[in-house]
Amino acid sequence: MQNTQAMELLLAEPRGFCAGVARAIEIVERALAKFGAPIYVRHEIVHNTYVVNDLKRKGAIFIENLDDVPPGATLIFSAHGVPRAIKEEAARRGFRIFDATCPLVSKVHVEVAKLAREGYEFIMIGHKGHPEVEGTMGQLPAGAMQLVENVEGVAQLAPRQQEKIALVTQTTLSVDDAAAITAAIRARFPNVRQPKKQDICYATQNRQDAVKLISSAVDIVIVVGSPTSSNSRRLAEVAQRQGVESYLVDSASDIRPEWLHGKSRVGLSAGASAPDVLVQHVIARLRNLGATSVRRMEGIEEKMHFPQPKGLRLNDESEQRLRQKYGGVSHGSLQDKPATSIEESGYKDALQAAGANINAVGESGNTALMEAVLWGREEQARALIAAGADIHVVNKAGETALEIAASQGLTDIVRLLLEVDGNIAAVGGDALLAAAYSGRTETVRFLLDAGADKNAASEWGWTALTHAVSMGGL
Ligand code: SF4
Repeated sequence: MQNTQAMELLLAEPRGFCAGVARAIEIVERALAKFGAPIYVRHEIVHNTYVVNDLKRKGAIFIENLDDVPPGATLIFSAHGVPRAIKEEAARRGFRIFDATCPLVSKVHVEVAKLAREGYEFIMIGHKGHPEVEGTMGQLPAGAMQLVENVEGVAQLAPRQQEKIALVTQTTLSVDDAAAITAAIRARFPNVRQPKKQDICYATQNRQDAVKLISSAVDIVIVVGSPTSSNSRRLAEVAQRQGVESYLVDSASDIRPEWLHGKSRVGLSAGASAPDVLVQHVIARLRNLGATSVRRMEGIEEKMHFPQPKGLRLNDESEQRLRQKYGGVSHGSLQDKPATSIEESGYKDALQAAGANINAVGESGNTALMEAVLWGREEQARALIAAGADIHVVNKAGETALEIAASQGLTDIVRLLLEVDGNIAAVGGDALLAAAYSGRTETVRFLLDAGADKNAASEWGWTALTHAVSMGGL
């Protein structure tokens, strides 16, 4: 049945695959191409039915128990991470192992291990039974970490002491829920140690922000994602909390025509584990059901890319194919990007004339300068600095513009910011860590040449070297 009124379709930006998911699926594809089927994968590589079935067809076998993996086989750990005991047992059994744990989950594991050595006790905010929660809690012996799922659960927490408690969270939680639970924990345990940068990852935050934005403009939100996918479910919840009817669909065939009756604007998003092909199927079905136009919303352009582990290099032709499929290319130079002439547009003058506070941190958590850096717009960044932007302002995630530029591998912008400041010792340590953490080898080299302290450590005790090792860069 077709909707009788014209319907506009609005696409949330960003949506769909994040860097951790793309990396994990690529690891399985590379292992299949390099070693041949079967390849064993512990747990669904990512929580998406289409992805899992596609890899099954290509020869991946998904298992939960190591007893189901034959001796000498190739085994891949899923993007959600695994408990230490599983890693150790798999190594003891002599499998050829590749770890597809998202580097942002590994980062949480490393923080847990470090603080545990310092005598901290842990509270984890997350969903019971989710593999990421099992993996993170499994970094310590049973009972060393307490799980809390909601604000009500905070009253039940019973740490052995209150002086050294650290907080960790699942990476795919609702940002708002996590903030409420964190506030309740802080109210009960004022000394609780929180990570400098929240554990909820950039992809989760960006997709939830985009759904919030789109919710104000549509009558219904459809989220593409599997019911097992935590981040996809959160997106549907975010829309509901904005007062908009929303549905999670695993495929286009899940869409019921009656949902669209009387609706003139439909918002569409996709969880971090949902491939674009499913989004295209949904768009085609919505067109069939009456959508007459499709419009992409403005949103953050994500440039995050995580390097592959060692030992999975293929021939040049296959490398090229995978690059096209998963975007494993380094960023183009700034010259490749469309130039925005700030001077010509009068943007700088307009800002100054209006007396805008260009150092204000906006809802996205960034200043105007940080946004320009994030988008790789060197000219805009220059104009903002000339207009008085303070390059040392720290955003809500605890980053400066320099750290953002370094983590994105934007060496030219890093150079510009250092020219302005000239004091790499003050900020260079963190920039180096950010670049190393994101696998930006060229930027790491530049920062070291510019005098960054290679032994500088983060608040969590991470050095650039630790980051490089955790990313498989060594
Ligand atoms: S959702 Fe976040 S933590 Fe999970 S795989 Fe993607 S980037 Fe990594």
